[in-house]
Amino acid sequence: MSDGLAAIDFTSETLLEIVRQWVAIESPTQDAAAVNRMADFAEGLLRDAGAAIERIPGTDGYGDILIGRIAGEEPGPGVLVLGHIDTVHPVGTLAGPLPWRIEDGRAYGPGIYDMKGGNAMAVAALTHLHATGRRPRLPVSVMFIPDEEAGSPSSRARIEQEALAHAIVLVAEPSGEGGKLTVARHGIARYYLETTGKPAHAGAYHAKGRSAIREMARQVLAVEAMTDYERTITLNVGTISGGTHDNMVPISAKACVYVLVPNAEAEAEVRGRLFALKPHDPDVKLDVTLGLYRPSYARTPAIQRLYDHAASIIRDTPWPAAGERVAGGGSDGNFTGALGVPTLDGLGVIGDGPHTHFEHIEVSCLVPRTQMWIRLFETLSRGVIAA
Ligand SMILES: [Zn+2]
Repeated sequence: MSDGLAAIDFTSETLLEIVRQWVAIESPTQDAAAVNRMADFAEGLLRDAGAAIERIPGTDGYGDILIGRIAGEEPGPGVLVLGHIDTVHPVGTLAGPLPWRIEDGRAYGPGIYDMKGGNAMAVAALTHLHATGRRPRLPVSVMFIPDEEAGSPSSRARIEQEALAHAIVLVAEPSGEGGKLTVARHGIARYYLETTGKPAHAGAYHAKGRSAIREMARQVLAVEAMTDYERTITLNVGTISGGTHDNMVPISAKACVYVLVPNAEAEAEVRGRLFALKPHDPDVKLDVTLGLYRPSYARTPAIQRLYDHAASIIRDTPWPAAGERVAGGGSDGNFTGALGVPTLDGLGVIGDGPHTHFEHIEVSCLVPRTQMWIRLFETLSRGVIAA
């Protein structure tokens, strides 16, 4: 299915055509069959790049995890490339609000920026090496994730297992504004609050009831008051629900708190404070549970060396590294960085509008940033990250 792509000649047109083929297969996270069609396509490309394929059948209703392994000039442990092949856009987005189009040097399409463009470049770089009889210096494993946009619930354990077996992690998520590479990420977590009161008729027996909503209202104020902008700690009660009837003292209420923290200490502090919450009304029960989370990771000296190495490769290109970025959003790099495996993120395409109907990339970044991937594969050694 990927005939003709084996020898990448590095015009913008050929790379753009590969990106178009990635985007043409819509792959929303919740549609496992669609994500697996994307995995089929990616598997074909990885085979063309000389990779040995491992495909782990999907679990929990998600698509498959796809891994392609390529030998290096030197023995391992090598480089793990992480990308996700799911998007937030439902099937039909391409035929509807976000059709494929090129306009003013920008290419538009669902998932093109987050992050099919980056996936396409990383694999195209490996295909090019293979087609020209070269090998990466270290072994390379490319791992494509089916459920990142849902928090990677079915793939986190496998990502962590792979990360620990590699020396370096490169993440093909999009670059920051103008081409920034990501050297650290904040942690994010969802907590669920649930209050359980005592029901009563709101007219005749109001005094006998214990309101779950009233209790939740007080908890919401307490939780949001933990926000500390100076320390980049935010707690946002994003959704809330409760009660069953206008004239009934509500028996239950639920709220989801979305938490952003800059580092592991803040993460532990906020977690401790949330789990220590007590109901104001002793007759109301309060439960706090932790949902999906991505731990923060900080820039280490090894990450700085990875950044410096990548930045020097692209210094004299039309899209040099525009700086070091600490990203607020999460990626699968959170898991690997938090484990202490040197992780450089944001090596994908340059553009804007993730998760929107104006999602696009700058077409002119495709050639220089694919060449960056080639050079990274050819030059990265364990010495690059060593002190
Ligand atoms: Zn992404």
